[in-house]
Amino acid sequence: MSDAETLFERIIGGEIPAEVVYQDETTFAFRDINPQARVHVLVVPRKRYRNVAELAAADPQLLADVISAAAKVASLEGISSSGYRVVFNTDADAGQTVFHVHAHVLGGEQLGHFGG
Ligand code: 5GP
Repeated sequence: MSDAETLFERIIGGEIPAEVVYQDETTFAFRDINPQARVHVLVVPRKRYRNVAELAAADPQLLADVISAAAKVASLEGISSSGYRVVFNTDADAGQTVFHVHAHVLGGEQLGHFGG
């Protein structure tokens, strides 16, 4: 991977503004600029990996941190009991556009079924 900063590193660094929802030592969460549900938050590990497969292979604890942060975001957003979805788009067919792994946390309304 190139050393050029990703969009999300620039958001984490405060260079690009975003509405931060949660952060801790290893993760950073902010609202998606183009929300696909009433609640749509992105959870990003501060350390960059291209996608969830690379993250899982290199640092399973950090992947666990991302999932825990997603659950905290759901709690902070008040959607823990109503339900929510956590999605990792992974490479071309899934439409991944930012190659710094991120979990989408979606909820706050009845979500449509997905696929296709
Ligand atoms: P992907 O398609 O890679 O799974 O998700 C990338 C997400 O980043 C998209 O949902 C897109 O709306 C979001 N996004 C792209 N640029 C920005 C930005 O500058 N700020 C924020 N907050 N979200 C962004």
